[in-house]
Amino acid sequence: QAKGDGRGVFRFYEAGMNKRLQRRRSLEAELRAANLDEQFHLVFQPIIGLGTNRVTTFEALLRWTHPVHGPISPDEFIRIAEETGAIVPIGEWVLRRVCLEMKSLPDNISIAANLSPMQFKRDDIVETVARVLSETDTPANRLELEITETLLLEDSRKLHTDLRRLRKLGTRISLDDFGTGYSSLSYLQKFAFDKVKIDRLFIKEITKSADQAAIVQTIVNLAFTLGMTTVVEGVEMEEQLRIIRAMGCDEAQGNLFSKPIPASDIPDFLAAHKLRRYAA
Ligand code: C2E
Ligand code: MG
Ligand code: MG
Ligand code: MG
Repeated sequence: QAKGDGRGVFRFYEAGMNKRLQRRRSLEAELRAANLDEQFHLVFQPIIGLGTNRVTTFEALLRWTHPVHGPISPDEFIRIAEETGAIVPIGEWVLRRVCLEMKSLPDNISIAANLSPMQFKRDDIVETVARVLSETDTPANRLELEITETLLLEDSRKLHTDLRRLRKLGTRISLDDFGTGYSSLSYLQKFAFDKVKIDRLFIKEITKSADQAAIVQTIVNLAFTLGMTTVVEGVEMEEQLRIIRAMGCDEAQGNLFSKPIPASDIPDFLAAHKLRRYAA
């Protein structure tokens, strides 16, 4: 009897696997063939300077509307695009869209684009960034590039050179999702970043957990010592804002200020933001 049950479970599991594998295969092919202008768009989430309450930056976040399945989460499709290499043309499309969007923003606001580690491995990312900046006639100092810690695991000479060349172009580099995955404090010293984005994992419980608060304070202090600015991600409540402000954090991002919005909503958001008052 036990044996029969086991087999049933196995078959059920196998059917689930097949379905997932099928979905993955079709998404893979569809990502490769997709007309980017038709199926992809960017949404923008503001990042607020805590000293001035001013919007300093918008982070561009990629969205894919699948013709049959509808919206697909970036966590799902970006992993597939990275594994298949499709992220290289998609990433260049993102950079170009970001630079074009910049033209309709006030010139004291930057845009941050996320870069995948694969764009460093499978593309000459420095050449691509330089070309897109020049083709779109965009000042490099308004472009921020966010990279994640997985990239740093490599710690290769080429990576050091690429990051240095990107900064030499005039773009700023942020270390994204700091504190998750393979993070190490030594990365902060080894690589010259302009900004450290502290993962929202640490902010979630910051009002209740002295440990989490201590971790954030330590990262903020270390970043300050090393001459980098700090951004806290995932701020959802005024109380969290009050705490990170007191810690000396430079900037904040999260649903408290706004969820990611379409480009067409940015002017209204900026006007409304000017009138809003947040926790002192
Ligand atoms: P990320 O770069 O760390 O982006 C921040 C993520 O946190 C976004 O998720 C954003 O919607 C979400 N978020 C922001 N504030 C809050 C908050 O207050 N609460 C909660 N619960 N979530 C918040 P999203 O848009 O789903 O993107 C997920 C990840 O996908 C990004 O994480 C980034 O790693 C990747 N991604 C998005 N766009 C691109 C892209 O153009 N290129 C590459 N390579 N990766 C991208
Ligand atoms: Mg990011
Ligand atoms: Mg992040
Ligand atoms: Mg993330």
